[in-house]
Amino acid sequence: MKLATVSSGGRTRTGIVAGDQVTLLDDADMLSLIRRLSEGGSAEAGRGETVPLSAVKLLAPIPRPPRNVFCVGKNYHEHAREFATSGFDASAAEIVPEAPVIFTKPPSSVIGPGEPIPSYLDPTQSTDYEGELTVVIGRGGRGISRADAFKHVFGYTIINDVKARTLQHKHRQWVIGKGIDGFCPMGPVIVTADEVPDPGAMRLTTHVNGEKRQDVAVSQLIFDIPTLIETLSAGITLEPGDLIATGTPVGVGLGFKPPRFLKPGDVVRIEVDAIGALENPVG
Ligand code: MG
Repeated sequence: MKLATVSSGGRTRTGIVAGDQVTLLDDADMLSLIRRLSEGGSAEAGRGETVPLSAVKLLAPIPRPPRNVFCVGKNYHEHAREFATSGFDASAAEIVPEAPVIFTKPPSSVIGPGEPIPSYLDPTQSTDYEGELTVVIGRGGRGISRADAFKHVFGYTIINDVKARTLQHKHRQWVIGKGIDGFCPMGPVIVTADEVPDPGAMRLTTHVNGEKRQDVAVSQLIFDIPTLIETLSAGITLEPGDLIATGTPVGVGLGFKPPRFLKPGDVVRIEVDAIGALENPVG
């Protein structure tokens, strides 16, 4: 199933997207839907009317996560290299990390499909995109082993891990540069895990103004999804609806000489074949 959060008739609703239609559900918000389905409930139970997708507005699948979005830095080999050699990496000497590099983005950074990325909030004009496959946790838990990890995956969505590169470098840490309001576009839907038997086979592409910048198979992650879940849950209890942005591949703006940062009027489109396309203009 492809699950969406939509605005319909002035109300926020959840729904199942099929083609160009959406069947609205009784569940008022995605977090309660995730909890219900993860506990064995059926989406059939709450089905309401079916309307054209054009009649509703897609919001971020989880418009206001209850806590920060977990993110992974430097998790594809070629991107780790382009970042380490860009002059913008103040974090570590090694190119390929020995263990997952984790940071977070605050809930206030989340925006939905089609919403403008507020690059005007970056005083350094170094706003950059990062297309990322994102894991949505279903059943929570602590101390989850690699072997059990996929039992805790509810589904997948897309996040654009937008950042202000100069702030990221200046502050030696990533929260200021990556946590800016509106710097976490999310969507367009959550595809449930049962529709993705082989997550590594998913392909992610990013286009800026129609020009392809990123193209990778998820199987090329340095630290795969089970490793990320095992690492995070070792000491942090994961909760239903938690989000783990798995990292971005080579091809971000800072990798170009000179860097090609985003500017107002640009359009960033991130596509994962199993999920759909997340497109946002730059404001
Ligand atoms: Mg990233």
